[in-house]
Amino acid sequence: MSKSAQPLVLVVDDEPDILTLNRMVLEQAGFQVVTAGNGVDAIQKAVDFTPDVIVLDVMMPRMNGYQVCRLLKNDRRTAAIPIIICTVKSLETEKLYAYTSGADEYLVKPFEKEDIVALVRKSLKGREYRQGVSLQEGEVPRTRTSTDSILSDVNSLLDRRLMELTILQALTKTLSSTLALNDVLREIQAGLLGLGYPNARILLLKEKGMLEETLPSDSPIIVDSRKYPLLSKVVGRNEVFILEAEEAARSIPLDLQQVMHAQTVLFVPIHAKGRPIGLLIVENTPGQAMNRNQEEFLLTLASQAGLAIENANLYERTLQLSITDGLTEIYNYRFFRQRLEEEVARSKRYGCALGLLILDIDHFKGFNDRYGHLVGDEILKNVARILKANTRDVDVVARYGGEEFAILLNEIDLKEAIVYAERIREAVEDFMLALPDGSRAGVTVSLGVAVCQSGNIEEKEFIRRADQALYRAKEMGRNRVCVWQPEGDHLCPSEKSKEGS
Ligand code: GH3
Ligand code: MG
Ligand code: MG
Repeated sequence: MSKSAQPLVLVVDDEPDILTLNRMVLEQAGFQVVTAGNGVDAIQKAVDFTPDVIVLDVMMPRMNGYQVCRLLKNDRRTAAIPIIICTVKSLETEKLYAYTSGADEYLVKPFEKEDIVALVRKSLKGREYRQGVSLQEGEVPRTRTSTDSILSDVNSLLDRRLMELTILQALTKTLSSTLALNDVLREIQAGLLGLGYPNARILLLKEKGMLEETLPSDSPIIVDSRKYPLLSKVVGRNEVFILEAEEAARSIPLDLQQVMHAQTVLFVPIHAKGRPIGLLIVENTPGQAMNRNQEEFLLTLASQAGLAIENANLYERTLQLSITDGLTEIYNYRFFRQRLEEEVARSKRYGCALGLLILDIDHFKGFNDRYGHLVGDEILKNVARILKANTRDVDVVARYGGEEFAILLNEIDLKEAIVYAERIREAVEDFMLALPDGSRAGVTVSLGVAVCQSGNIEEKEFIRRADQALYRAKEMGRNRVCVWQPEGDHLCPSEKSKEGS
C-alpha cells in the first residue's frame, strides 16, 4: 500500500500522553494520523482534512466529545465520517449518550492496542477512503475553519435544538388534547411554521392510494400515489425523503410541483400504529443545509402527528357512530332531536322558515309477516336511501322510530315542503325490491307535513303538528301527504289513495 492510499485517522484527546500513544499504535498499524488536543481543534481538523475515521475522547475541558460529535454529525461536510467515541466509564448512560450524539462506535478506556486498531478497521470497512491524499508532518490545509465560526455553529445548533424541542413539546401537549382533525392539522402546520417551514402541506392517505389535502385551501392537492412509484415508496418507508427540484419534474405530479418553491423539498411519511396514513411535505429553508437532526426532528414530529391524526379519526368515527342509525345509516332519533332543537332556536332568532316531514311505512307489520323481517330490513334501508336521494345535503334525514322517518327541511315554504313530500311518496311507491325468488315487493308511505313560517314554535308542538297530519294521512287511506292546518282541517294535497300491500 503506498503512503498516499493510507486512510487518515483524526485522534482527539486532551491528554498529550494518550494522544502520542494512540498516534503510535495507529501509525504502526499503517494509518496516517492527525491529532487534536481539544474540541475546537478537532472540529477545525475534521472540516479541513476530512479524515476517514475520528477517534474522539469524551472527557475534555470546555467542549466535550459528545458536543463535538453532535456538531460533526450535523455538518454536511463531516456527517459521513465514522466516529469512535472513547469514554472512561462503561455505563449504559454513557453508551446511550454516545449513540444519541451520533457516534458510530463506542470504546471504553483504557483499551488494548488491538481494540482501537480493530475498531478503526471495522469503521473503514466497506467505505471508500480518501485516496491520493498524503499528509506531511505539520501540514496545514489552505482553507482553515476559524474558531469563531465553529463556536457560532455550536451555538446556533444548540439554539435550534432547544427551539425544536420546545416547539415539539408544546405541540405534543396541544395535539394530545385536540380532537378535531382539521385543528390537529392546523396545529402541526403552526408548529412547522415556528421552525421555519412556512409552506408545510399535509396529505392524508385515503382509499386506493389517494393522497388528499383535507385542510380547506384554495387549491387542495389530490394525488394518486399509485401512479407515482416514488410517492408510494416514500409513503411506505419511515424515513425522510429529500427531493431536489430538478428531480421533481420527473417523479412527482404537477400539482405537487406547483406548491414547491424551494430548491429542496422534504417528504416525511406519517405513520400510525405501523401503518402509513399520510405524507408531510416541507420545503427546506433557503440557504440551510440539510442535516441529520432536521430529519430526526421531522420524523419525531410526523410520528406525533400520526398519533394525533389517528386519534382525531377515531373520535370522528365514534362521534359518527353515536349519531347514526345502525341499520339505515342515516341519523338516529337522538341526533334528530338535537338538530331540531338547534334549528327551532335558529328559526326563533332569525325568523327563518322550517319544514318538518314525518313519514311512516304503510301496513309494514303485514309486510313483515308476509316477507319476513330480513326483507323488511331491506325495505327500511331502501326507504332511507330514497329519502337521502330526494333531499338536499342541508336537510336532516333521520330514522325516527321502527318504520318511521323524520326530515327537517331548512328554509322552506309550505309549497316547497309539499313538493318534497309528494316526490318522496312517489319515489317510494315506484320502488320495488327484487326478491330471491324473482318476484318483487314494495311499500307505500304516508307523510305528515308541518311548516313554521313565523319562527315562533316549540319543538314539541312542531312534532305534534306533523304527527297529526301523518295520522290524518293514515286515516284518509294511506299512501298520501297531509299538511297540518291551524283549523285542524288537515289539507291533503295528494288525491292518490292507493293502499300499500
Ligand atoms: P300503519 O300503516 O298503520 O303504519 O301500519 P303498520 O303495520 O306499518 O304499523 P304498526 O305500527 O302496527 O307496525 C309497525 C311494524 O314495523 C311492526 C314492526 O315489526 C315493524 N318494524 C319496526 N322496526 C323494524 C325493523 O327494524 N325491521 C323490520 N323488518 N321491521 C320493523
Ligand atoms: Mg306503519
Ligand atoms: Mg308506525
